[in-house]
Amino acid sequence: MQLFETVIWIIFGVTIGSFVNVCLDRLPLQFADDEKRQCLLNDNQAAPLLKEHLLNRTLSIFSPARSFCFSCGSQIHWFENIPLFSFLLNRACCRNCSTKLDSRLFWTEFLHGLWYAGLGWFFTGWITAFLFSINFSFLWILGYCWPCRQLQKSLLFAAAVLLTLNFIIYFS
Ligand SMILES: [Zn+2]
Repeated sequence: MQLFETVIWIIFGVTIGSFVNVCLDRLPLQFADDEKRQCLLNDNQAAPLLKEHLLNRTLSIFSPARSFCFSCGSQIHWFENIPLFSFLLNRACCRNCSTKLDSRLFWTEFLHGLWYAGLGWFFTGWITAFLFSINFSFLWILGYCWPCRQLQKSLLFAAAVLLTLNFIIYFS
């Protein structure tokens, strides 16, 4: 495979990995029950902006559009949001409050880049590679979010939709 195509798959993979990280950060909070919500509202380490979103139930994977630090509430600038590089350049810390970031942020993006590039190299057609890549991302989210009981029904529904899509695309 051409080097150019591999680079495109890597960029695509780390970008999806970055979105997966947003899902992992926000979904368990979006679906949090009252007890967990109250626990976070009483947490001194949580940013006022995060508490505001929890209180108003306005946190979702698309809202607010821009990411923010859950510890200090500062908005993440575009240059702090470049997959892999920003994590390394900021030495795994928030630029504003220096709170240590979870290494999961890096590994999710790194393994997505690797996996997507691997599948892009292995499969000749991009549709099959794309399908297996999306399956990987979904399984990543499923594995991480499954312990959150409130999310399980939605995850099972998404799994059913994805499985149907797999059958349609793979056997058509
Ligand atoms: Zn911060």
